[in-house]
Amino acid sequence: MPEARATILVVEDDPEIRRFVCSALAAEGHKVVESANARRGAIDATTHRPDVAIVDLGLPDFDGLEVIRGIRRWSPMPVIVLSARSREHAKIEAFDAGADDYVTKPFGVGELLARVRVALRHAVRPASGEGALRLGPSTIDLVARRATRDGAEVHLTPTEFRLVGCLAKHAGMVVSHKQLLGEVWGPTHLADTHYLRIYMKQLRDKLEADPLRPRHFITETGVGYRLLADDPA
Ligand code: CA
Repeated sequence: MPEARATILVVEDDPEIRRFVCSALAAEGHKVVESANARRGAIDATTHRPDVAIVDLGLPDFDGLEVIRGIRRWSPMPVIVLSARSREHAKIEAFDAGADDYVTKPFGVGELLARVRVALRHAVRPASGEGALRLGPSTIDLVARRATRDGAEVHLTPTEFRLVGCLAKHAGMVVSHKQLLGEVWGPTHLADTHYLRIYMKQLRDKLEADPLRPRHFITETGVGYRLLADDPA
């Protein structure tokens, strides 16, 4: 397993959940660093330089959001939030603080491990965009600016290419509305989420086998979108 033996930081105050998560990660071959509060987590992040951080939000000393903001001041390491806060607003706050993914408690350990694998792939290949993306029947080459579906050329507009490029940079992870709007349309359009609905529909119509049941351009309700590309052949 190429992703094995990564260092993973787990910032979680609930000892039972911490033990459970850490032993699952250790069983995958990872080195695990455990922190029981926000202050400790922030220190462990700088001293252990983990490949991925898993951060609970409800911590006894500071909010986990502070841990994430602290990490973002110096590191692009993938941060996965593990939290009982399930409201959209809490998720948006976490993404705006710099989180890359969000797992809601109660959670399945299989799901958490899958998110960690995605985050590790992302950490190894931070700026994807080289080579073509494979999305079921379609391919998108972001460098050559070419898209095909069932082997036939598909026309994408420059904005559609920028949107796919932004999602592809974070492939497998959630990209918030604000981040997408800021990167594709600019800082004056951060509230124009209807742009995203329109463009996402266009991309699905052009590229998904079944646009009504998308398998690649995934909606994270109220939060953002996630691009799931097939592994390169
Ligand atoms: Ca907690």
